[in-house]
Amino acid sequence: MIGKVYLVGAGPGDPKLITIRGLEALKRCDVVVYDRLASPQLLHATRPEAEQIYVGKRTDRHIMKQEQINQMLVDLALEGKMVVRLKGGDPTVFGRVGEEADALRANGIIYEIIPGITSAIAVPAYAGIPVTHRDISSSFSVITGHESPDKLDQSIQWDKVTNATGTLVFLMGVANIGYISSQLIEHGRSPDTPIALVRWGTRAEQRTLVGTLQNIEQKVAEASFKPPAVIVVGDVVRQQEQLAWIEQKPLFGKRVLVTRARSQASELTEMLDEAGAECYEFPVIETRLPQDQATVDAIGAALQQTDVYDWVVLTSVNGVDYFFRWLEHYRVDIRSLHRAKFAAVGPKTAETLMQRGIRPDYIPDSFQAEGLLEGFEELLLPGQKVLLARGNLARSLLPNTLQERGIEATDIHIYETIAATPRDVWLPELLEKGRIHLITFTSSSTVTNFIAALRRLGVQDPSTLLQHIEIACIGPITAKTAEENGLIVKIMPEQSTIPAMVQALIDNRSKEKGE
Ligand code: SAH
Repeated sequence: MIGKVYLVGAGPGDPKLITIRGLEALKRCDVVVYDRLASPQLLHATRPEAEQIYVGKRTDRHIMKQEQINQMLVDLALEGKMVVRLKGGDPTVFGRVGEEADALRANGIIYEIIPGITSAIAVPAYAGIPVTHRDISSSFSVITGHESPDKLDQSIQWDKVTNATGTLVFLMGVANIGYISSQLIEHGRSPDTPIALVRWGTRAEQRTLVGTLQNIEQKVAEASFKPPAVIVVGDVVRQQEQLAWIEQKPLFGKRVLVTRARSQASELTEMLDEAGAECYEFPVIETRLPQDQATVDAIGAALQQTDVYDWVVLTSVNGVDYFFRWLEHYRVDIRSLHRAKFAAVGPKTAETLMQRGIRPDYIPDSFQAEGLLEGFEELLLPGQKVLLARGNLARSLLPNTLQERGIEATDIHIYETIAATPRDVWLPELLEKGRIHLITFTSSSTVTNFIAALRRLGVQDPSTLLQHIEIACIGPITAKTAEENGLIVKIMPEQSTIPAMVQALIDNRSKEKGE
């Protein structure tokens, strides 16, 4: 059976600006063929076994010719693969989708075109410039600014285009900005007409440069403003003074690498996103059920006699989830724990317990084993029995100290933490070029697994690579692990929670800005 090709618009940069249909195709495909303008983060959506083929510009070899790309799509489909051809913005706007679709059609291959949000509209929108406005502009054109001036003159009828619509949007025009603005003036636009260039819109690097047709060439030169940028011409540009929005967010401009467990709720990502940061999610750990029989048997034994426990201690959200999975597995009724009080380390763990209908009897003030032990000094008497349901990497401090106090602690490892396999071939380069500004760690295992993941990606000396990147750790234990791995921890909240960590990042940013 021959395969199928989806020609998918990736949106302007922010990976969340892909369509649902486009994302579904990515999740299912066998191969993704992509280039520079599509966010590398979108590749995270593909299945682990999906092949990823880059066909954009590269330092080591030339950009792949369009005919070669066409042929590649045809060949992959003939091999029976489901192929996603991922393109920046919308595939039909200067995306050469016509040529690709034509090659597919000529070879009898079925394709779908899945539109994307074009940078021509979205990038101005992210700079606070609406391409139309009820009182200001009732139409817009999208025009190529590519090619040398003489070729431009062949494809653009300046006398018609200049005044055809209220707003003019040029793509690929930064190199020709002087020529474009002088042509517009020559054909009847006032030299005072506002013009804006928005570079890398919807991404952390977004920058807006505003001028007039008269002075923009000089301003671009002075700022050494580089492509890619969308150029907007017309009175709508002035709206940006009132309407600019994302640039005002506290963490705007920061690209934050969030190391996290694959299954973990993305609370951190959501909060960072809300604060204007661009998140680069990097799953470093996965949790799974324990694999060895002895551990499974120990859990079974501990859950056979649930009415003996005075306390059940859960130390993480994962812990709560797996605890209930084990109760179900061994057909244990939660009511058989009627004697036991519940302790939850940290508010998230407490909340997850509450979602299961159990209000924790005790949440320590500081969210580590130390805090719990302090509180337990008064709450637990010698001879009492405690069930500790934790992951395999949990420290032995808790059971050891409890034993010393004459308390019988049953420590079961109800889940395992394992390293996720990273496929981010771009990550070392992003780190090296300073495109990642900050890294967050929410547990010691995210630190060690991240370092290990970098090594697997070919980085010989991770701590040197990370020297100039800000490191944020959720609490002292994580920070200690980071430091042991040669990292310099810059940000650590007083309370070890995700909201406190995000607030610490915001505070640090406003300090940097001198607010
Ligand atoms: N199909 C794409 C356009 C491809 S042409 C779309 O619909 O958006 C490439 C040009 O698009 C770049 O030279 C630049 O002008 C513009 N562009 C694409 N993404 C951009 C971004 N995030 N910020 C600024 N310009 C962008």
